[in-house]
Amino acid sequence: AKESKGNKVERFSDILNEKEKERFVIENLLKDALARDEFSLYYQPIINMKTGKMMGAESLLRWKTEKLGFIPPDKFIPIAERNGLIVPLGEWVLKTACRQNKQWQETGYMPIYLAVNISVRQLEQKDFINRIENILNETGLDPKYLELEITESISAENIHNIGNAFKKLNDLGVTLSIDDFGTGYSSLGQLKILPISKLKIDKIFVKDIHKEINHTAITAAIIAMAKRLNLEVVAEGIETEDQLRFLQENKCDMGQGYLFSKPIDASRFAIFLQKKQSF
Ligand code: C2E
Ligand code: CA
Ligand code: CA
Ligand code: CA
Repeated sequence: AKESKGNKVERFSDILNEKEKERFVIENLLKDALARDEFSLYYQPIINMKTGKMMGAESLLRWKTEKLGFIPPDKFIPIAERNGLIVPLGEWVLKTACRQNKQWQETGYMPIYLAVNISVRQLEQKDFINRIENILNETGLDPKYLELEITESISAENIHNIGNAFKKLNDLGVTLSIDDFGTGYSSLGQLKILPISKLKIDKIFVKDIHKEINHTAITAAIIAMAKRLNLEVVAEGIETEDQLRFLQENKCDMGQGYLFSKPIDASRFAIFLQKKQSF
């Protein structure tokens, strides 16, 4: 149908169409983005809140297209999860992060762990453990420097299979961390049966620590609970000194956020490693 240019009335169906169009465009660009080598990893420091020392970093996927410039992960990851592209893409992320970390260690920089975000779609692959083992073998990275972040949206149906996978990963020496804790359907039970060693408090809670009395209470409670379960706690999205102070007072172990550093590319990150940057 033809649209008249002067028509200012935006109908709901038109808005839906815009969303659908965008999705369609992204999905098409995504198909050969790996082959076109359009992805890169950025790294965001994760800091020990007692000492200010950098212990690790989270690797975050970046996609730069020729047509549309940078497309944020929140826009393309859900699409890649739906059409299955997340499996080869996630494999690329794992390989790139492990190779990069090994390379930094060989350069003689202080060793840190790299955390990699894993989609449940990847975990559901039968050969996922094999893939991880192969990547560790190929790159020669010690498994203790690899951490996998998994969001807590693990359904009741696949908890058994995922539980088995977690156990094998843990046996390999890889660290498992629950991402975005507090946002998904909660899973205190899961925390007890799965071999998890870390919790990441979602940035939603950190953001409103000083505005929302509920979020203050939730954050303090998550930290206290994690301690009782012998889990390390990482707070993400720390942007202010006030937030940092609150988290330190509540004995949160580690932190990450713009207050310390935004995610940065490998060459800028290498400068932190070289300088043994403290925060
Ligand atoms: P996430 O795993 O919760 O990652 C944290 C997000 O918070 C990142 O957004 C990071 O840039 C952002 N962030 C860090 N510090 C701050 C802060 O102080 N303030 C604010 N406002 N934001 C902060 P990013 O890089 O846009 O990634 C968004 C999401 O995309 C990630 O959320 C993760 O779920 C997904 N993602 C990113 N890379 C990958 C990947 O390689 N694989 C998979 N499966 N998912 C990924
Ligand atoms: Ca994450
Ligand atoms: Ca998170
Ligand atoms: Ca998230």
